[in-house]
Amino acid sequence: MRLAGRVALVTGASSGIGRAIALRFAAEGAKVIVNYLGGPDGDPKAASRKADAEAVVAACGGPDRAIAIAADVSVREQVEALVQGGVAAFGRLDIAVNNAGIEIKKPFLEVTDHEWDLVIAVNLRGPFLVTQTAVRQMMAQEPLPDMEARGKIVNISSTHEDIPFPQYTAYCASKGGVRMLTRNLAIELSPMKININSVAPGAIATPINQSVLQDPQETKNALSEIPWGRFGKPEEVAGMVVWLASPEADYVSGSTFYQDGALALQVTQY
Ligand code: NAD
Repeated sequence: MRLAGRVALVTGASSGIGRAIALRFAAEGAKVIVNYLGGPDGDPKAASRKADAEAVVAACGGPDRAIAIAADVSVREQVEALVQGGVAAFGRLDIAVNNAGIEIKKPFLEVTDHEWDLVIAVNLRGPFLVTQTAVRQMMAQEPLPDMEARGKIVNISSTHEDIPFPQYTAYCASKGGVRMLTRNLAIELSPMKININSVAPGAIATPINQSVLQDPQETKNALSEIPWGRFGKPEEVAGMVVWLASPEADYVSGSTFYQDGALALQVTQY
């Protein structure tokens, strides 16, 4: 139980990597704030995300161990309400994982202003807002007696924070921004004893890759670029995040940890 006594927020935790991180945090003894993207009443996709988030709460051990809170990470008021709601439920916040993310595939000349702004808002403004709000809370509360770090921030970036990916320019720009957010804030937050690091997954089998996973030829193409020879699992990413959120990683800040079966070392073109 490496996270006993901690309270952890995971954004975009109703599916994929975020879900796996929430479940693993709970198994390691943390209380978990399961964020999901809400939506208008009657929107079936929003209802499905809510049901998925509630299932994650149940799998974490129920309302004593986790809470589901809707918030769009790109909207300051919703992020502040998310952190306040989590603190009202569990009393504090020790760990925040910026996992929520989206991608839009399009040739650069066809990308609209709205599509560009949406990807940057979720993937880069979201981590800015969540990190700032979380750090303010971490600095306002009493430190835990068994923690040198006052808090931990983990960003789920991507190998595409560094490796180009044609037709995903907004996504790559957003994740490149997360890389520099991580490096810059490591300097600013270290005197506050708050760590910030990124995990950069390669190809993980989650809903974001549904179109690739459902197409045998695209799956074959993707596998040919992964020296390890398979897609990664969300649980593997969760294992890395637990380590970064634990005291074992207190002296680690400002780094990106690739978790990609050596994909980033091999890919030369798409
Ligand atoms: P996913 O689509 O299952 O997860 C993304 C989650 O973010 C979803 O639950 C979605 O509802 C949520 N979300 C979207 N917009 C939101 C918003 N405005 N506010 C709150 N939540 C929002 O896919 P995933 O693979 O689990 O992705 C998780 C993270 O991992 C993303 O940041 C993604 O870029 C990153 N990543 C994934 C892969 C991969 O191969 N799966 C590779 C590299 C990086």
